[in-house]
Amino acid sequence: MFSDELNQLIETLVNDGVLTEKEREVIHKRAILEGLDPDEVDLHLNAKVHDIQMRAISIASKLRTCSNCGTILQPGETTCSQCGQDASTASPLISPSAL
Ligand SMILES: [Zn+2]
Repeated sequence: MFSDELNQLIETLVNDGVLTEKEREVIHKRAILEGLDPDEVDLHLNAKVHDIQMRAISIASKLRTCSNCGTILQPGETTCSQCGQDASTASPLISPSAL
């Protein structure tokens, strides 16, 4: 629904999962130039940011931290790479209730 150029701009700016006011402004200006409704573009932007944040959370929710030193354990690690603590005692990086 948007031009390739605008889509590309949105992808580039939104990719870090954060959309600053400045970035939003840049996208709005581009949208207006193309004769689009900025509100419509905003909805699209919000959905994109939401998507990326959800993806980041789902990745983070699979990670665990060492119960001894707090190091983030790699998936599949059975002991902490920093202190050797048994990974079975590790706790989730983010609690399920935060999701
Ligand atoms: Zn550790």
